[in-house]
Amino acid sequence: MTVLKVAIVSNQTPKSAAANERLHILLKEAGHTIDQKDPDIVISIGGDGTLLSAFHLYNHKLDHIRFLGVHTGHLGFYTDWRDYELEELVESLCRDEKQRISYPLLDVSIRYHHEKEDRHFLALNESTIKRGNSTMVADIYIKDDLFERFRGDGVSLSTPTGSTAYNKSVGGAVLHPSINALQLSEIASLNNRVYRTLGSPLIVPEKEWVTIKLPETTDYAITVDQISIREEQIDSICYQIAKERIQFASYRHTHFWDRVRDAFIGELE
Ligand code: NAD
Repeated sequence: MTVLKVAIVSNQTPKSAAANERLHILLKEAGHTIDQKDPDIVISIGGDGTLLSAFHLYNHKLDHIRFLGVHTGHLGFYTDWRDYELEELVESLCRDEKQRISYPLLDVSIRYHHEKEDRHFLALNESTIKRGNSTMVADIYIKDDLFERFRGDGVSLSTPTGSTAYNKSVGGAVLHPSINALQLSEIASLNNRVYRTLGSPLIVPEKEWVTIKLPETTDYAITVDQISIREEQIDSICYQIAKERIQFASYRHTHFWDRVRDAFIGELE
C-alpha cells in the first residue's frame, strides 16, 4: 500500500466543509498523513476556482506535487471526483503508482518603467489586461516584431486548459491541452476604417512569445487566473508557455472532448 503526504484546500461551503472533514478521517484511517507544507498530492474540494487557488498556493512546488480536484457543485474542468466518491478516491491513493497527466501553464512576466526586476507569475487558466473606463491602447509584439496596435477593452492570453474558461466567453477557440501553445484573444477590439486588429483569436506555439507594450503610464487591471493586480508604471507584459507544467494525479481521466461536450452541450438525444 502506498502512503502519501496529502494537503487539502477547500472552499467555505457547508458541502465542502463536510467533505473536508470526511476526507481527513478517511485519509488518516488509511495511513496517509496530512501535510499542508510539503505534500505529494494536493486535493482541492469545491469547484474549478478552488483548484485554481490550490494551484497558486503550491505553484512553487510543481516539480513534485500532483493535484486532484473533488467537486461539490457542478462538474468542473479540473475536478474529476464527486464528494460522494471519497472512499473510492482514498482507495486510489492507496494504490498510487505515481500516475500523472500534465498540462501547459502560462508564464507571465511584468516589466515596469522604473524597476530593474520583472515580476513573474504562472497562470493555469489565463491572464487578462484591461483598462478602467477608457479604451486600452497597446502594441502587440509576436517574438520581437510588432504585429498590431490594439484598441479596445483588453486582451486575454490563455493556456489550453484555460481555453474553455474566460477565453471561450470572449470568442476564443477551444484548444486541446496536448497542444503546447498559448492563445491571444481580443476583448471588444475597435475595428473600423481607422483602427484595425486581426479580429480573431491567435494561437502562438511554445518557444514564441507575445509582448503587450502599454504606451501610456496609467493604471491597468491585470488578472492572473482569479488574482487581480492593479498597477501603474507597467511598461510591458510578456507571455509565453512556461517551462513548468501542472501535474494531475490521473487515477481516472475524463477525455478532454467528453468534458467539453458535458460542460457546454449536454446529453444528445
Ligand atoms: P469561479 O470559480 O466562480 O469560476 C467561474 C466559472 O468559470 C465557473 O463556472 C468555473 O467552473 C469556470 N471555469 C474556471 N476554470 C475553467 C476552465 N478551465 N474551463 C471551463 N470553465 C472554467 O471563479 P474564480 O474563482 O474567480 O475563477 C477564476 C476563473 O473564472 C478565471 O480564470 C476565468 O477563466 C473564469 N472567469 C470567467 C468569466 C467569463 O467567462 N466571463 C469571467 C470571470 C472569470
